[in-house]
Amino acid sequence: MKYAEHIADLVGNTPLVKLNSVTEGIAATILAKIEYMNPGGSVKDRIALKMVETAEASGELKPGGTIVEPTSGNTGVGLALVAQRRGYKCVFVCPDKVSQDKRDVLKAYGAEVVVCPTAVAPDHPDSYYQTSDRLVREIDGAWKPNQYANPMGPASHYESTGPEIWDDTDGLVTHFVAGVGTGGTITGTGRYLREVSDTREGGRVRVIGADPEGSVYSGGTGRPYLVEGVGEDFWPTAYDPKMVDEVIAVSDADSFEMTRRLAKEEGLLVGGSCGMAVVAALRAAKDLPADAVVVVLLPDSGRGYMSKIFNDDWMSSYGFMRSADQSTVGELLH
Ligand code: PMP
Repeated sequence: MKYAEHIADLVGNTPLVKLNSVTEGIAATILAKIEYMNPGGSVKDRIALKMVETAEASGELKPGGTIVEPTSGNTGVGLALVAQRRGYKCVFVCPDKVSQDKRDVLKAYGAEVVVCPTAVAPDHPDSYYQTSDRLVREIDGAWKPNQYANPMGPASHYESTGPEIWDDTDGLVTHFVAGVGTGGTITGTGRYLREVSDTREGGRVRVIGADPEGSVYSGGTGRPYLVEGVGEDFWPTAYDPKMVDEVIAVSDADSFEMTRRLAKEEGLLVGGSCGMAVVAALRAAKDLPADAVVVVLLPDSGRGYMSKIFNDDWMSSYGFMRSADQSTVGELLH
C-alpha cells in the first residue's frame, strides 16, 4: 500500500509547469513552481514544519503548548496542519485586509483567529505584531514561531525549495523570481541556488525579488497596497538583501490582471502574489536568450481570493478592470 502517515508528511516536492500563453514574445523558458500543491495549499507549509520541529527539539515548544503567530493565513494553515497531529493549540493574529475566506479556513482547521486593523503603525498597541506579542505573554505555554525573524524559515527553503528547483531543472535554471513577504523564500532558495551554481560555466543563478509598489523592499515608504502576503513596511531579519540581485516593483493593477490571466490562459488558479511574481518574471525575462530558464515561485491558490481578485465588482471598485488597450502589463513588457 502506498500512503502517507500524515498529511504533513506530504509537504514539498511541488512540480514545475511551463507557462505558455502569458509569455508571448519571450524567448526564454518560464517555469512556474506550483506551491498550492502543498497539503495546506501554500509555500508556507514548508516553514511551518521546519519551525515547529526545531522548536520541539530545542524545548521552546512543549507538549500541550499554544502556537501564537501573526499570519495572513497561509503560515497559519501550515502551522495548524502540523499542530493538529502533535496536539498543540493555535491562535492566529491577522490584519483586517485579509479576506474572510482566509480567516474561515484557519477556523476550519481548529484555530482561533484574532483580527487587527491594517491602517496602524507596527508599534501601535493594536497592530498585529503588538497584539501577538501580548497574547504570547498572556497565554500559558505559548510559543511564537515569529516567521519574520525565525532563521528556520529561510533554512526550510535552503533545504527543500532550492534543491527541488536545481534537481528538476537539471541544474539549468538561470534566474529565480519570488515575491518577498518575510523574505524567507527568496533568501533561503536564493542562497542555495547561488551556492550550487557558483562555479558553473555560464554563471551563477540570478535572484530576483518581486515586491508590491509602495513596499520597502523596492524603495517604497510602506504605504498600503492590496496584494496579500508580500511587501512590508519594515525590514524583517528573515530577509537577507545580499541574497537578492534585483527587486522589481509591481502595481496592484498589474498583479491582479496577471493573476486573472494565469487562471484563464494557463489553467492556474493562483493568488495575487503569484500574478505579481509572474509580472516581475516576464519583465526580467523580456530580453533574455532562448536558453535562459527562469523559475518563478507561485505561493498559493486563487481559492482564497474569489471574493476579491476574481470578483468583477470588487475589481471595478478599485478601477482594476481594464480593457486590453488600457493594460499596462503588455506595455511594460514590450
Ligand atoms: N505570497 C503569499 C500569498 C504569502 O502568504 C507569502 C508569505 N507571507 C509570500 C507570498 C511571501 O513569502 P515569504 O514570506 O517567504 O517572503
